[in-house]
Amino acid sequence: MHQVVKGSSLRHKYLSLVVPVFNEADVIPIFLKRMNEIRSQVLDSLGANSSMELVFINDGSSDGSRQVIEAFATQDTSIKLVNLSRNFGKEAALSAGLHYSQGDAVVPLDVDLQDPPEIMLALIREWQAGAQVVNARRTDRSRDGLFKRCSAKVFYWLLRRISDHPVHEHVGDFRLLDRKAVDVLNQMSENTRFNKGLFSWIGFRVATVEYARPERAAGSTKWTFPRLWALAADGITTSSTLPLRIWTYIGGLIALLSMGYATWLVIYTFTTGIDTPGYASTMVAVLMLGGLNLLSLGLIGEYLGRVAIEVRGRPLFIVESTRGL
Ligand code: UDP
Ligand code: MG
Repeated sequence: MHQVVKGSSLRHKYLSLVVPVFNEADVIPIFLKRMNEIRSQVLDSLGANSSMELVFINDGSSDGSRQVIEAFATQDTSIKLVNLSRNFGKEAALSAGLHYSQGDAVVPLDVDLQDPPEIMLALIREWQAGAQVVNARRTDRSRDGLFKRCSAKVFYWLLRRISDHPVHEHVGDFRLLDRKAVDVLNQMSENTRFNKGLFSWIGFRVATVEYARPERAAGSTKWTFPRLWALAADGITTSSTLPLRIWTYIGGLIALLSMGYATWLVIYTFTTGIDTPGYASTMVAVLMLGGLNLLSLGLIGEYLGRVAIEVRGRPLFIVESTRGL
């Protein structure tokens, strides 16, 4: 079993895998089969007497995923289960997993095998070499579908330009986090959770491993377009304040230009007489400024809505029951 001898290099290593699950009954057996194939290799790479736990977070599945996991858990005590009271979304499920995992290192990974378990060996190697956050970067996303690839590209481009702090690009939630990093993440109480942003924000010694992202082993993606859009909006609003502040400058610039134009208009009217035509320019100015006003208001709303969520201070997730913890 997992033995804690603090500060000793002889300490047996304990690895936690955090697996969020939302209606994945088909793929769970495939995932566990693959995990069992590689388990001894992973434990060997961790050193003598090391052990691991598999913390499944059942994110309000309605397809029997829970029963599937429970059935496997009766035969394998390293399988643990946290049932959330409803579907809270992957970000919250992952946070629940980080709270319940006890390992010296924690690896969040998707149950659909798009985060190949074999890559864990490389992650562990970097961890043992001293890294505290080991990113798994997707180099080949050709299996990801054209829309996903293009939207990811635009998203990271935008984020790179406006975020207050760089976010590791093309790195999903799949990575290795040292206990130190996990403890820090667990202390963060923010409700609008964009884990990829948090994982980058905390710092620590970072290493990166590259891999090609395979297709889903079975089942279908749980990330519909509205969910992806919401995640992107969370990512941008939690990582930046520039979209809020930029209106000061845009407004200032427009005011300056307007003053110049007004001055020119006064002089023109006095020197050449009254000039009434100007429907087109008036319309353009009114519509453009109206649009800019609404855009800036909407952006303020995006941030303000998230502030409101924070102020309510509701829990990030609600646990209905646990098993093996
Ligand atoms: N997931 C979850 N809650 C959700 C949506 C997804 O726990 O509300 C889990 C899902 O079961 C999977 C992982 O998050 O293990 C990644 O989801 P998916 O494979 O659908 O996303 P994609 O790979 O298409 O981005
Ligand atoms: Mg997937």
